[in-house]
Amino acid sequence: MSYSKCELCPRLCGVDRSKSVGVCGMSDKPSLARAALHFWEEPCISGEKGSGTVFFSGCSMRCVYCQNRNIATGDVAKEVDTKRLTEIYFELKEKGAHNVNLVTASHFLPHIVESIRKAKAEGFDLPFVYNTSGYERVESLKKLDGLIDIYLPDYKYAISKDAKRYSSCPDYPEVALKAIDEMLRQQPECVIENGIMLKGVIIRHMLLPGKVIESKIAIKKLFDRYGDKVYYSLMSQYTPLPYVADYPEINRKVTEAEYQSLVSYAAELGIEKAFIQTGEAASESFIPAFDFEGV
Ligand code: SF4
Repeated sequence: MSYSKCELCPRLCGVDRSKSVGVCGMSDKPSLARAALHFWEEPCISGEKGSGTVFFSGCSMRCVYCQNRNIATGDVAKEVDTKRLTEIYFELKEKGAHNVNLVTASHFLPHIVESIRKAKAEGFDLPFVYNTSGYERVESLKKLDGLIDIYLPDYKYAISKDAKRYSSCPDYPEVALKAIDEMLRQQPECVIENGIMLKGVIIRHMLLPGKVIESKIAIKKLFDRYGDKVYYSLMSQYTPLPYVADYPEINRKVTEAEYQSLVSYAAELGIEKAFIQTGEAASESFIPAFDFEGV
């Protein structure tokens, strides 16, 4: 698990990140776009006081419809070291956070492991949330065993053709399932106290416009595999940003009818442990300003 011949994620670039970058676009120095309380996660993650969200710059997925493009491409990035990362965790706790929520952190895994160990050694006692695209290597996730309390993976695609077209990773459907298997091995039970999650796995699936059938296939696959051992979060917040113009089939918001069809199907399957979104189907308010706050 090192940056020198980087194989931290399934892209397996093999580059020396002290000299060049791979698909994630980031060097071996952890970089952040924002570290602040965030109120738009699932209610058991955000609670009333907010989730202490740490947004890492760069991403190995490169989805064409990325909702956080500036941060994913590393345009917004401020370097930090392990000491500063650990300080940030304590500062978020001081602000009242229910947890520390590490968003898209897999390409900085060595620093993540070190900073969590350091924080725990210094008495840090909030849950750590690992918020991920789901495109993870099991070998890397094993390094987080005993350090992460809540896994918050996406399951973006069950269909390889879509994973290839929109995220250039045709192996996503199987890779992500194996990654979620490992997350569930580490955290087999959901524990929620006073409305706040302390341990467990929540799988997110964001409906894309015109992709109701594909989404139904995805959630059936998940429910067949994991049943009610996990929570499911069905998201309708997709926002078509200008750069999806080349993908006209997804260049619109999700309709209320599309989302309701997916939610009804989830109920028919017997999914009870689910979070659904209400109100305006897609709102840019879910996209925070990446302004180095708290970094
Ligand atoms: S973390 Fe970045 S450089 Fe390493 S394998 Fe993944 S995409 Fe490539």
